[in-house]
Amino acid sequence: MGARTGSEYVERLAASSPTVFIGGERLEGGIPEHPAFRNVVETYAELFDLQHAEPETMTYESPTSGERVGMSFLVPRAHEDLVRRREMFKRWADRSLGTLGRTGDYLNSSLMAMSEAGEWFAQADGAYGENIRRYYELVREQDLLLTHTLIPPQANRSQGAGQQLGGQLTAHVVDRDDSGIVVRGARLLATIGAIADELLVFPSTVLRGGPEDEPYSFAFAIPCDAPGLRFICRETMDYGRGRFDHPLASRFEEMDAVVVFDDVHVPAERVFMLGHPELCNQLYIDTGAVVHMAHQVVTRTTAKTEFLLGLISCMTEAVGIEQFGHVQEDLAEVIIALETVRGLLRAAEADAAPNAFGVMSPRWEPLNAARNWYPRFYARLPAIVRKLGASGLMALPTEADVTGAARPDVEAYLQSATLDGPERVKLFRLAWDISISAFAGRQELYEYYFFGDPVRMAGALVRGYDREPYKARVRRFIDG
Ligand SMILES: Cc1cc2nc3c(=O)[nH]c(=O)nc-3n(C[C@H](O)[C@H](O)[C@H](O)COP(=O)(O)OP(=O)(O)OC[C@H]3O[C@@H](n4cnc5c(N)ncnc54)[C@H](O)[C@@H]3O)c2cc1C
Repeated sequence: MGARTGSEYVERLAASSPTVFIGGERLEGGIPEHPAFRNVVETYAELFDLQHAEPETMTYESPTSGERVGMSFLVPRAHEDLVRRREMFKRWADRSLGTLGRTGDYLNSSLMAMSEAGEWFAQADGAYGENIRRYYELVREQDLLLTHTLIPPQANRSQGAGQQLGGQLTAHVVDRDDSGIVVRGARLLATIGAIADELLVFPSTVLRGGPEDEPYSFAFAIPCDAPGLRFICRETMDYGRGRFDHPLASRFEEMDAVVVFDDVHVPAERVFMLGHPELCNQLYIDTGAVVHMAHQVVTRTTAKTEFLLGLISCMTEAVGIEQFGHVQEDLAEVIIALETVRGLLRAAEADAAPNAFGVMSPRWEPLNAARNWYPRFYARLPAIVRKLGASGLMALPTEADVTGAARPDVEAYLQSATLDGPERVKLFRLAWDISISAFAGRQELYEYYFFGDPVRMAGALVRGYDREPYKARVRRFIDG
């Protein structure tokens, strides 16, 4: 099949029947038409279509079928391959101004790296290496959209999974035979759970590593409409108000869901790891998956920072405040942030080298610096939008007013130095949707947490960073 079109994606979704709880309803399919999902489904369909509009950038020839398949599946062997991958990431990221976190390239990148690390999976069982490779090929050839769920429910973080509700709360293996495993319990979260084709249920890195963690230690993949699997969605932030009023939420509201496994059977060929908590804790690092995920993430956050620089610049120009020193300071801060993420991305590519499995991989340290820094920094961007937008972010009539009886007043009193009234309202509604709306709040939370808890990521960064040369230099200096 190869790279899908938007309508192929929507047709498959329409034919599937995931169990989804939302707003008091229990859905068994019908996702593409549901008001909470239809706009974001349309956006994802546009991303799939882009693969056909720009095949050179977005796809490459499959080594097995000869079909054009998504570029994020490309196994990089040379530096140019990393550039091709990044150019593809950027095209998709630009389409959502960096606000979509689960475009397929994010998890395709992780699966690509894992598929090449078959011998690592084979440490636990020879079949697992073959299972992950075959699964990667299936996803690549059918261009399936993946999401994942990694974290135990947030019940009591002072206890391990095995201690909560007698061990019943967190998803765990309750049965196992030659046909596969049976899983019961819950995980959070799965962004785009309801609109994805497949769910990766991979290890959380906070397993303590003892024998009590065995039932909670696994990596597998299942279709999102697997029997017994349920998604409990939060309230939608797409209020059905259209693109003028909610320019971002009406296109890019991805939805997050708690995942419940009610004795879900996972076929043996879709199990990639079972038991081995110590291996599970190392899965993302040892396979190189985290490096390729971060390559996609830092590309996306570059796109997002470019968007915010453009937006803030349009606002300061519109209301004539660019000449003020503190406004320039804020603009400078955004420019520096943009050049920082760009520089880290470029450094990671420039210092790329093959990993243990022969996959050309960006250098981890600059990407790790970016993935630790940006979650902490991101909140500054909407804060700057709010500070510079001020009351303009509240002087925001809706489309109904701008096109209705209030139009003469909008034209007369909401004009700006460079824009007429309706144009200014349009710009500031976009600013509102990235800095104040429910969508904006979720974006901030997402950027802070989606890659893991920044506090614990900082700990991992410190533990993994080679500081010995610098300590030695200090000791040499002290010793004279
Ligand atoms: C919008 C959004 C979308 C997401 N999408 C996905 C997704 O698609 N798939 C997925 O798998 N996950 C997803 N996540 C979950 C994400 O991985 C977690 O939010 C993140 O790993 C932090 O875990 P937590 O939310 O359970 O926070 P907790 O672990 O409950 O932490 C809460 C607070 O307690 C502190 N804390 C808790 N335990 C410890 C500890 N042991 N040591 C130090 N401090 C501690 C933390 O620092 C934090 O301040 C998403 C999260 C958000 C917000």
